[in-house]
Formats: sequence, structure tokens, C-alpha cells
Amino acid sequence: MRILIVEDDTSLVAGLKKALAPAGIAVDHEVTGQGAMDVAPSEAYSLIVLDLGLPDIPGQDVLRRLRDNGCEIPILILTALGEIKDKVKCLNLGADDYLTKPFDLDEFEARAKALMRRGRGQSAPMLRCGNLVFETSSGTARLGENPLLLRRREMAVLAILMAHAGKLVQKERLISEVFSFDEPVAPNAIELYIARLRHKLGPDSPKIRTVRGLGYLMEEK
Ligand code: CA
Repeated sequence: MRILIVEDDTSLVAGLKKALAPAGIAVDHEVTGQGAMDVAPSEAYSLIVLDLGLPDIPGQDVLRRLRDNGCEIPILILTALGEIKDKVKCLNLGADDYLTKPFDLDEFEARAKALMRRGRGQSAPMLRCGNLVFETSSGTARLGENPLLLRRREMAVLAILMAHAGKLVQKERLISEVFSFDEPVAPNAIELYIARLRHKLGPDSPKIRTVRGLGYLMEEK
């Protein structure tokens, strides 16, 4: 497998290469947006890792042009911008995921591998956590044999938590994945969906744990 990293911080690139090397993932490196647009169409990359702050062209423009030109390679955005709206903008422009600098190399590796799997069509059509099952194709969930009646956003929150079962999901990430860029988001919106989900899941189900100040984590009972 081969990926393209577009990033002008060469010491960061060295770290990313090191994180991916044990998995046998080959890394091409471009420092500029133009360089990335020159090589991306002609190479069979499994993933493009794209920094937003490039020396020549803003990463958002590189992303937009790649997608406009029909590039379907999964793209993981690296951003130093803390604002949710920048991340959401990238997701709306066709990015598949993002990481905010500074990030943990283990998390980078996990996200990169997940995107590469998804790119090969191997994302699980069914999510499971204990007796809770979520069918991603039909968007239905059941607890044992009992169907769960969930509203759209409850379903979206549940799917994200289940896809990352056992791992912390940051509240910010839930917000950016559940709400579109233009939608107003009440400060306690996610808390509300979590409370409703807990109520609907009841006592004999996987638990949604609150990690104070950070986010949520789903774990088997
Ligand atoms: Ca940069």
C-alpha cells in the first residue's frame, strides 16, 4: 500500500512515516499543493494526507480541486486550525476525516488505516457492540431481537460511537459529523442525544460512558 503525504513540516512527515512503516505502508511526500496535484491523479494511492497550511496553495483549494477533478482517493486532513467550521468545511469539500495538530501518532495510524480499509470497500456493513447491532446499509439498530426506534441524529451519534466502540470519541467530532455546516448547534445538543440514547438503550445494553471534558466512549456492558 502506498500513500501520499502533503505537508511542509518535514519533521512531522518523518514521524508519520515512522508510524506507518511497521505496517508496510509506503509513503510519498510532497511539500507543495501543486506537487500533490501533479502526482495524485497518476498514482494508485490508498490515502492522501493533506495539510491545510501549505506554502503555495491553501489545502482547502487542493482538496477542492482534487475532488473537482474526480479524485476518489480517501483524504485525511491535518489542520492546525482549531475551529470547528474549518473542519466541517473540509468535510463538506470531500475530505474523509481530519486530525488537529498536535495529534497522537497512534491515533493518526488508526485513522489512516481505517480510511484505507474504507477505500477498499471493507468498512463493516454491520456494527456490533455486545447485544447491540447497527446495520449501516439500512440505518436500523436493534438490541438483541428488539428494534430500536431512533431519530436521525440519535442514529448518527450511535453509529459513530459504535464504529469507535471502546475508544474515546471527542464531543467536537460528534458535533462535526452529526451537524452540517449551516445548521445551528445548541451547546448541549450532543448531551441531549446521548441522554435520549441512554434512555432508549436501557440497562441491558452497552453503556455510553461520559469522559468528562473530552467526549464519550461506548463499551460493552
Ligand atoms: Ca504546514
